[in-house]
Amino acid sequence: MTEEEFFKTWYIWKNDFLLFKRTFIGANSDKQQWGNMLLNLMGPIGQNIHSAFTFNSQSEKENIDILIQKFDEYYIFSGRKKLPLENVYEYINELELMIKEKNVTNGEELIRKKIFTEINKHQFTNAANNVIPTFIFSSDFNKLTLKEIAFIWKLYTDSDNCTRCDGIHSPEKCPSLGKQCSKCNEWNHFPKRCPTNYIKNCYYCGGNHIYRKCPAFNEICTKCQKRNHFKWKCQSIQIPQCRFCGLSHAANRSLCTAKNNICSNCKLMGHVPSRCNKRFHANRL
Ligand SMILES: [Zn+2]
Ligand SMILES: [Zn+2]
Ligand SMILES: [Zn+2]
Ligand SMILES: [Zn+2]
Ligand SMILES: [Zn+2]
Ligand SMILES: [Zn+2]
Repeated sequence: MTEEEFFKTWYIWKNDFLLFKRTFIGANSDKQQWGNMLLNLMGPIGQNIHSAFTFNSQSEKENIDILIQKFDEYYIFSGRKKLPLENVYEYINELELMIKEKNVTNGEELIRKKIFTEINKHQFTNAANNVIPTFIFSSDFNKLTLKEIAFIWKLYTDSDNCTRCDGIHSPEKCPSLGKQCSKCNEWNHFPKRCPTNYIKNCYYCGGNHIYRKCPAFNEICTKCQKRNHFKWKCQSIQIPQCRFCGLSHAANRSLCTAKNNICSNCKLMGHVPSRCNKRFHANRL
C-alpha cells in the first residue's frame, strides 16, 4: 500500500479487514495481536503513519480498537494539526471542510475528539473559567459547541494583537502612528481597530471583536435553543425544577423533555410519573 492508496482505499480496506477479523472472533480476541496483524498487513506505509501517532500509554500502541480510530482520523484529516499561530476559527473551518469532502457522518463529534487530542486541558479549563466559572473539563467539554470550543481555545492561544493596528510588532513601532482613521477621523489607529467599529465584551459572545464579526452569530444556544449567542451569554430564565419533568431547563415549554411523554400513572400527556398530580391516589389503591 502506498500513501496515495491509503487515502483512496482505507475505508474499503478497513471493512475487509474487520470482516476477516470477525470470522476469527472467539478463536482469537487479543487486541494487541490484532493490532500487530493490522500493522503487518498494511506494510511500511501503515507503520510510517503509525509512527506519527501519539498514545496515552504503551498498551494503546498496538490496541486494534485505538489503531482503527487513529487511522480513521488520519484518513479524514490527513494528519492535519493546528499550527502555532493559526487562527482557531479558520482551523476548525478547514476541519469541517475535510469532513464534508470525506462524506462522513457524526462529523462534529469527530472534530471534537480531534481537538480534544490537540488542546492542553489545564490551559483550556483556565480559559473556560473566564466565561463559565463552574467549567469542569471532564464533564463539560463535550457539551460545548465547536464555535464555543473555538472561542475558548482562542482565549489562550491568540497572541495579543496591537489595539491600534491589529498587527503584531515591537513596542513603539505601530504603523498606525501618525495616520488618520478613515472611519472616525481621529488619529493613531487603523479603521480595523477603530473604537466606532470595535466591540469590547460583546453582549452575545463575551469577547472583543470587529463590529458584525461576532463568533456567536447564527449559533444555536444549547441552553435556550435560540440563535445568536453563546450559552454563557444566555439571558433566558432557567427553571430550577420544572413541574412537568422535574429537571432544570430554560423557561420554554418546547424544551421540556416531558412534553410528549405519556404518564404511566394517569395516562395523560406532558409530565413524568414522579410529577403526576394523581400520584398519591394511585399509591393508595
Ligand atoms: Zn499597532
Ligand atoms: Zn477610527
Ligand atoms: Zn460577539
Ligand atoms: Zn440562550
Ligand atoms: Zn420540564
Ligand atoms: Zn400523571
